[in-house]
Amino acid sequence: MKKLIIVTGMIILASCGTLKQKSALPAEGQELPALAPSVIQDDPVRASGEDQDHLILATLWYQKSAEMRALYYQCFRNAAIALAENLAWAGRTKPAAVTIDIDETLLDNSQYQGWQVIENRAFNNEDWVRWVELARAEPLPGAVEFTRYADSLGVEVFYVSNRTVQEMGPTIQNMSALGFANADSAHMLLKETTSSKVERRAMIEKDYEIILLVGDNLADHSGVYEKRGTDYDFAAVDADRRLFGTRYIVLPNPMYGNWLSELLKKTEGRTEKEKLIKLLETF
Ligand SMILES: [Mg+2]
Repeated sequence: MKKLIIVTGMIILASCGTLKQKSALPAEGQELPALAPSVIQDDPVRASGEDQDHLILATLWYQKSAEMRALYYQCFRNAAIALAENLAWAGRTKPAAVTIDIDETLLDNSQYQGWQVIENRAFNNEDWVRWVELARAEPLPGAVEFTRYADSLGVEVFYVSNRTVQEMGPTIQNMSALGFANADSAHMLLKETTSSKVERRAMIEKDYEIILLVGDNLADHSGVYEKRGTDYDFAAVDADRRLFGTRYIVLPNPMYGNWLSELLKKTEGRTEKEKLIKLLETF
């Protein structure tokens, strides 16, 4: 219900004719009124803008399927087992660390995705920053507990995310309020110049041994997966098969990721939807 109220509030505020920016997210601290969902259907803004309907099914699955919830519990349970096993290995010369991505790994931003669909807004940085600054993302199932478990074992928890360094403040505010371990600037390696996480992992490895990597995008685990090959990197995944569930923990995200952005870059088409249909035709 809380989600519904927030999303509905964002939609109404965004479509209110008295606002200068019709489709803007509410500012931080601004109260969000609870309004009937039926208002969404009459929103005139819906008829214009950039169609994001291709996000509907993936976003609904993420928000409403019990399977998604079960998968997150399953992944974090597996992560806890793998972490304890890896910690028991002999021969480590440095303290142990775990690297964890933030978005769609620990924090659920699907409210923002849903808002994009309803308001016909393609992803853009301005909207995204306003969402981040609200600091209202909910934790994903099992996420908070996993970071606290790692911390209780003495494993240093590092957050390696492509939220930008400018988004550090509200990200810490959001995560510390939810009770994530080490939600502070010393443990948050955010994006400065490059989306690649290879350098940030190397920085951690100067003082720690990374014994587990957790994320919804394979680029959270290895630089190998940043640029997907013509086989979508299926062969690379097959070659790494023994790492999944032991060193790499992968969370499900059907809404976005390198799997999709890399495909769209390589596909011709006027709109994202046109490209997606073309991709289906190549199966
Ligand atoms: Mg992510």
